[in-house]
Amino acid sequence: MDIIRKVIEENLEEVISMWHKLHATPELSFEEYKTQELLLEFLNSMGYESKKIAKTGLVAVLGDDSKAIGIRTDIDAINVAGPRHSCGHDFHMSTVLGTALVLKKLGVKKTVKFLFQPAEEAIGGAKVMIEEGVLKNPEVTEMIGFHVWPKVPVGTIEVSPGPSMASVDDFIITFKGKGGHAAMPYICINPLYPAMDFINTMTIKTKIENNPLNPHILTFTTLQCGTVGNVIAEEAVVKGTVRTFDMAFKKKLQNQILAEAEDIGKKYNCSVSSHYNVYYPPVISDEALTEKFTKISKKALGENNVRPLEKTFTAEDFSFYCEKVPSVHFRLGISDGSKGESPLHSPNFDGSFEALYYGIYTLVNYVLNA
Ligand SMILES: [Zn+2]
Ligand SMILES: [Zn+2]
Repeated sequence: MDIIRKVIEENLEEVISMWHKLHATPELSFEEYKTQELLLEFLNSMGYESKKIAKTGLVAVLGDDSKAIGIRTDIDAINVAGPRHSCGHDFHMSTVLGTALVLKKLGVKKTVKFLFQPAEEAIGGAKVMIEEGVLKNPEVTEMIGFHVWPKVPVGTIEVSPGPSMASVDDFIITFKGKGGHAAMPYICINPLYPAMDFINTMTIKTKIENNPLNPHILTFTTLQCGTVGNVIAEEAVVKGTVRTFDMAFKKKLQNQILAEAEDIGKKYNCSVSSHYNVYYPPVISDEALTEKFTKISKKALGENNVRPLEKTFTAEDFSFYCEKVPSVHFRLGISDGSKGESPLHSPNFDGSFEALYYGIYTLVNYVLNA
């Protein structure tokens, strides 16, 4: 048995007991005060000095070089009938704490920066961490992130170069007409018609005007207009979301949506107000770093236990690090056939503790061989 496996096995119990504490303390984005305390205590007990950042986040460093490998975990829970770790961030935290512990016990001399990031589920805790200088001093030259993944067997990871998770934007388009009696539509301007036209036109237009090899999702989620059968409403509000894997293409879709809303407003004699919100860019794993990470991980986990991943239109604010430094984001298998089968964000979400072992093993092994 190699020395890494031995040290992980000796300390796994402690990591699992930490998981129980974190799991029992789920807190929503930017409210992770108790979580921050638990993490701080554990890091202190290992001899790490850690620093608070981004309100409820933490950063701790092993080694004293001017350049570091960054390892990031998110720390927030989601609201599933109250705060709950249904996105597995308790697994992420425990894995990164375990990694910090094992690297310390192994007496590793490399410099590693551990990022405990709040508010992944809200509007980008990663962005705040970066703004507050988390990538500097020591300078993070490469960043490793991961997410537990249901239905992927424990002992397996999935990773591919390029985009793995999508960008997220949403929009609110309001068509303002002229309300009145439903029996006199000829003296009103019914905003329902441009709203319906807009939804239909955009649905068709994005299909025929964009290259299908560049995948995207445009989903309309609500159309609100009026409340009763005999009144024409003043306005109609359309909401939806846009997901892509490519920032230039994302910008193109944004322009198409805004231009089409204007054109349709004119066509129906309605005024239009548009709000287009840009949230996360796509998660893009750096080609060269992913190749290096894959090679090192295959050696440790076995050729067949490091598989390519299938892209998903869900999102992750790890993407903000990807924009700044070469980064790799992998998926950690948590399924043992009974645990780890329910989807992320499900109230039934769970995972095998063996995933902690393999997560720590993957990260420690990478640091030692990078
Ligand atoms: Zn989530
Ligand atoms: Zn998550």
